[in-house]
Amino acid sequence: MAAKIIDGKALAAKVKDSVRQEAAQLPRKPGLAVVLVGDDPASRVYVNGKKRDCEECGFYSEEYALPAQTTQRQLLELVAELNGRQDIDGILVQLPLPQGLDEREVLLAIHPDKDVDCFHPFNVGRLTIGDPVFQPCTPGGVMEMLREYHIDPAGKRCVVLGRSNIVGKPMALLLLHAHGTVTVCHSRTPDMAAIAASADILVSAVGKTGLVTADMVKEGAVVIDVAMNRNEAGKLCGDVCYAEAAEKASYITPVPGGVGPMTRAMLMKNTLTAARLHQGV
Ligand code: NAP
Repeated sequence: MAAKIIDGKALAAKVKDSVRQEAAQLPRKPGLAVVLVGDDPASRVYVNGKKRDCEECGFYSEEYALPAQTTQRQLLELVAELNGRQDIDGILVQLPLPQGLDEREVLLAIHPDKDVDCFHPFNVGRLTIGDPVFQPCTPGGVMEMLREYHIDPAGKRCVVLGRSNIVGKPMALLLLHAHGTVTVCHSRTPDMAAIAASADILVSAVGKTGLVTADMVKEGAVVIDVAMNRNEAGKLCGDVCYAEAAEKASYITPVPGGVGPMTRAMLMKNTLTAARLHQGV
């Protein structure tokens, strides 16, 4: 079987277009504040992308580029100020933070109504009970992709590789809420290959190039590659050995052009949701 490609880039454009149209109807533009601490080049690329997305969606955006020497207190003061601003609906602190800063405390300080990344424990709790305000961006983007391609997780065996708070765990929850039968694998899972090979929907979010080989893909499975790795040549790639997996899968996401653009689109969707919440519309 030659897999159909799930086009994340095209779907992200569609999502952003509908966000732009909805945002234009609001009394006030949605506002997103992006906080970047330090000079990590990858983080800079992500922040630039978010700024462009805001422009495309007609949002107001502000960027705070702080030096790596910023103290915890200064960062918390900025978050407190942004929490109080009427024109800012979403606050995004780009991770990872430089060493010495306490990520957990910073994420806790963001008001849950402005937590458009869906990292605050309040929002994680709401997600867990199946009543989320915001969708966690990456797993939420994956669910949009499945919906767009009429892939229903209900009754399917779903395997998630990776158990991080950002991707693996919320991904498993969303698939569970969609009535999938979910197994989560991680670095201590014995015989992960056999578990993966039993999946109707296989989501890989580990961050290891070449991890998912064809023998780990069931004939006709849907393969979602969340990872964004660099191979030896410095080229962006996922966890999945794409060419060989595509021979067996029914659907597959490419890297780049798969989950990445959808993550960004979901951030815009969450910012719109926050703006609606703040404007009572
Ligand atoms: P992370 O926090 O490093 O988590 C990686 C997970 O993989 C951990 O749960 C770890 O297990 C597990 N793992 C490590 N080695 C393994 C192995 N050999 N077999 C099975 N499981 C293994 O990473 P993350 O933030 O979730 O990100 C994962 C990947 O997704 C990265 O490539 C990242 O760049 C990418 N990502 C992409 C997007 C996007 O928009 N496309 C967004 C976020 C992240 P333990 O818990 O046991 O250590």
